[in-house]
Amino acid sequence: MITFCLLCDQAMEDGYLCLGCTKATRVRLECLPDLYDGLAAFLAPAGGSAQMRGSRPVHAPMPVSEDVLDLRGPGGLVGAAERWVGIIREQRGMPEPEPTGSVEGRLKGAAAELLGHLPWIAVSWPDAGMFAADIQEVTASVVSIVAPPAPVDRGIRMGHCPAQFEDGVICGAVLRLYAGAKVVTCEWCSTSYPPAMWSGLKVLMDKDAAVA
Ligand SMILES: [Zn+2]
Ligand SMILES: [Zn+2]
Repeated sequence: MITFCLLCDQAMEDGYLCLGCTKATRVRLECLPDLYDGLAAFLAPAGGSAQMRGSRPVHAPMPVSEDVLDLRGPGGLVGAAERWVGIIREQRGMPEPEPTGSVEGRLKGAAAELLGHLPWIAVSWPDAGMFAADIQEVTASVVSIVAPPAPVDRGIRMGHCPAQFEDGVICGAVLRLYAGAKVVTCEWCSTSYPPAMWSGLKVLMDKDAAVA
């Protein structure tokens, strides 16, 4: 019988989560306590805005401390993990959990228990898709704070490449200076312009612009 993974829709022999999604869910569960710890660094409210602007790209918004508080609070990571523990225990006819102690300890305990249930979840639980999607979402929301995607370096626009081909045609491709780069290289004709040439480059560009 062919069935489909409830998380990624991939066809498979049987069960509710494919091997890849089961493994990904396992990694996410294993990471939960570390993600919780990682969030601690983002608890402090953003300092002086000028300083923040210098140390972070302006277009990567500073995470709001409230989001961090929510994720680390009783309704956040630990709430999600314990809610699933409760649901799964009920499904499997086990006694209700009675979590005690610190949020950190409870999260570790709940994550470890969910890891223990994972083989059953993947193979035998029709709600596995909802579970896996929720775990995916909650970890993604933490990762977006602790490790936001690096902004793409679009470089500083220097002007148009003044290199002249043998037939007299000017290259004219847009030249960009990328962060940390020592040389401006034309992506079209591969002509390189080291810093010593930049002032001369500007003169050439202005000349080309005047001609055009
Ligand atoms: Zn899958
Ligand atoms: Zn060029």
